Amino acid sequence: MARTAAAVAAASRGCAISGCQGKHKGRGLCGKHLQRLRLTGSTADPVRPTFQERFWVKVDRRGPNDCWPWTAAVNEHGYGVMRPPGKRTGPAIKAHRVSAEFAGMAIDGLDVLHSCDNPPCVNPAHLRTGTAAENSRDMVRRWRSCYGERQNHAKLTEAQVLEIRERRAAGEMRNALAAEFGVSGSTISNIANGQTWRHLSAVSPQVGEWIGRRLRAALHSEVAA
Ligand SMILES: [Zn+2]
Ligand SMILES: [Zn+2]
Repeated sequence: MARTAAAVAAASRGCAISGCQGKHKGRGLCGKHLQRLRLTGSTADPVRPTFQERFWVKVDRRGPNDCWPWTAAVNEHGYGVMRPPGKRTGPAIKAHRVSAEFAGMAIDGLDVLHSCDNPPCVNPAHLRTGTAAENSRDMVRRWRSCYGERQNHAKLTEAQVLEIRERRAAGEMRNALAAEFGVSGSTISNIANGQTWRHLSAVSPQVGEWIGRRLRAALHSEVAA
């Protein structure tokens, strides 16, 4: 009478699963395979979802032209974030960048920009690569459409207001700045303490220093261009 594989394995104190070098624990199996059998009802290797599969379950995929919002964690700027493949710790990666890579875009050294102005969107049809300067310009345009440089206080530009704030904060005299920019001392005070041009301080604290830095860089490059 033929002996079962389990019996053979048990007799040789090995594991019946072919290729497994584990020591026999019970029912012809090593500890790992025995445990797996108990937990899953099978000794077969578990099927791990691929990185792509893990990615797409977090996306609300809608019509081809719709935004596809990321449904998992987002960072402080509203961009979807996730752990890089195979990492449990360390810096998160941005979901829209991952989506762009999946779509075959070469993103190294470039920003991935949203044509839909919707940070959590990962629809590759709404993504394109661009330089950091293009990204800043996009952001300024978007931000202006919300606030508008020329709504009020048309005597000064946003770049000048930011400069006045910085220089006043660095200790420059109010009246000297007033003379230089051709405005009154109280105008300088109001700018410095955020009474006027409030939208320029509205960039902080949420969006914070990051947008301020990018905005200043973009405004300066506009002036230089
Ligand atoms: Zn085994
Ligand atoms: Zn979109």
